[in-house]
Amino acid sequence: MSDKPKSHGRLSISASLKPRELMSHNPRLAGVWTARIITLFPDAFPGVLGESLTGKALKDGKWQLETTNLRDFGLTKHRNVDDTPAGGGAGMVLRPDVLGPAIEHTMRGARGNWPLVYLSPRGRRFDQKMARAWSQADGITMLCGRFEGVDQRVLDHYNIQEVSLGDFVLTGGEIAAQAMIDASVRLLPSVLGNADSIEEESHSNGLLEHPQYTKPAQWAGRDIPEVLMSGHHGKIEKWRREMAESITKERRPDMWAALHADQDS
Ligand code: SAH
Repeated sequence: MSDKPKSHGRLSISASLKPRELMSHNPRLAGVWTARIITLFPDAFPGVLGESLTGKALKDGKWQLETTNLRDFGLTKHRNVDDTPAGGGAGMVLRPDVLGPAIEHTMRGARGNWPLVYLSPRGRRFDQKMARAWSQADGITMLCGRFEGVDQRVLDHYNIQEVSLGDFVLTGGEIAAQAMIDASVRLLPSVLGNADSIEEESHSNGLLEHPQYTKPAQWAGRDIPEVLMSGHHGKIEKWRREMAESITKERRPDMWAALHADQDS
């Protein structure tokens, strides 16, 4: 093994690059959908996004991922990023004079429609609609909090939208960021080859998806529903629609009601 530094002047995105090596800024990929993450834990990326469909698309240059290490903007020789909450109380809060420069550095060169969001349990609940909107943007910048969160003035000053992964509290925004990026990247037209599978899946048409089966035809004494083996596309379509409707009605009365409210209006 040689210790020679890796060339940064590559002309093509090489499949031999490891996911983490794909995360340095690559001017050749200007115009490609980009997620920029501000985090104290850049090593957590690409994480699971480096696997499977999203990982291959990252390698193929169909989207890119860049991290800003919040620690680099820390103050004093200890690179402090946080301090005690004004008014007292438990924990630490990320300082505005650290976050501000990190945000400005990260947003540099972000053009067009480029949301800036803060992952936060107080935020609007993330959903498929938001994933679709983000996938149609030019890119997105996500601020991952830690400890008790961030100084409110930063959110106000940059007019940052707060987005939540769900009604629970995580230790940090990184897992939420990866979940939201995954949901957005798989909707990029160049990424998910088979667009039909997007149309039919849960949440894209206001319904949860019908049950899926695969081989073997019999397993543990259970058969695949006969209609799916019939080869009759009309009947299969009808069965799937009915199953999707009954599952949605039973599990998510809120979605079922919303679907009918839409149809009535
Ligand atoms: N004190 C805060 C919680 C801080 S949790 C409160 O009660 O609202 C620490 C960090 O984890 C947050 O800054 C946020 O970035 C992230 N986080 C926690 N729960 C989250 C959720 N449900 N969705 C998105 N990010 C979350």
